[in-house]
Amino acid sequence: MPIRYYSSVFGVAANRSRVRDAGDHFIRDGRACRNRFAATSQHPSMSIGELDADAVDSYREAGEVLVETMNDAREMIEPGVTQLEVAEYAEDAIREAGAGLAFPVNISVDEEASHATPARDDDTEFGEEMVCLDIGVHVDGYIADAAVTVDYTGHDDLVEASETALEAAVEAVAPGVPTGEVGAAIENAIDGFGYTPILNLTGHGVERYDAHTGPNIPNRAVDRSVELEVGDVIAIEPFATDGRGKVGEGATEEIYEQVGDGSVRDRRARQVMEELEAFDNLPFAARWLDSSRSAMALRTLKNADIIKGYPVLKEADGQLISQAEHTMIVTEAGCEVTTAGIHDFD
Ligand code: MN
Ligand code: MN
Repeated sequence: MPIRYYSSVFGVAANRSRVRDAGDHFIRDGRACRNRFAATSQHPSMSIGELDADAVDSYREAGEVLVETMNDAREMIEPGVTQLEVAEYAEDAIREAGAGLAFPVNISVDEEASHATPARDDDTEFGEEMVCLDIGVHVDGYIADAAVTVDYTGHDDLVEASETALEAAVEAVAPGVPTGEVGAAIENAIDGFGYTPILNLTGHGVERYDAHTGPNIPNRAVDRSVELEVGDVIAIEPFATDGRGKVGEGATEEIYEQVGDGSVRDRRARQVMEELEAFDNLPFAARWLDSSRSAMALRTLKNADIIKGYPVLKEADGQLISQAEHTMIVTEAGCEVTTAGIHDFD
């Protein structure tokens, strides 16, 4: 059977315009920039490749909100605290910053790689686990997507493997570099720790209101590859495991996205459809819906191809997974990491 490939992000279909309170609470001091980039508040944003200055600004602002939220939320993760507390804290913090959620906060534990988020009234507590915290923020549709791993299993080196791989990948990124070369840097780094990259999860391009575009950034050396260009925005996300390095779909599904506009007779399903308008075709969590009776309505809407679900992705052998992710803009000099400040190497 062919391996099914997953991008660990969510396809974001809409291009509807959003109104945003362009408050002045966003810091534009270049803190989110790597030192090979010289932006400061004295040097207002300039266009990068095909990105105009407003787009560059928004990508940076989304990154700033993400970094602040991530660093607070990760501190909350410890045995005895519920997953729901952390997810809701982070989601509220993003909204309070005037930004939007590009997708529900993902909290993936142990063999889970992606697409896990707490259910409504979920009282699951963190245990002695390996926890991947993956957050997506958008400002005016411009997305920052990043992840860290918090470990209570004592497998520091597994966390270090994905972090080191991400660092190597960021160093490799420059205009003209084939994506396969970035994948090779990731694979080599994880190999060096004696672990395996997840082969059927990839990084991805990011565009406005779309966190699911090309180019794919593989987590291993591949032949089929495209060259990075100035102005590309990409999320790179190595996953390392002590298993065989493949994920498949689990049974749990808490994240959905509207994909169609059909009609349904069921009254409750119609009510949920009205609620979906607030999510603007971005992925949403079932717990964001008003009613406790929404589970049946979600099934109805899924059967009518009005929404799709994102099942939790799990390591095929049930082994531990670590993840490290950054979003970056490809620049003439290399890249500008918009989410810098969440990993030790930043
Ligand atoms: Mn991603
Ligand atoms: Mn992510």
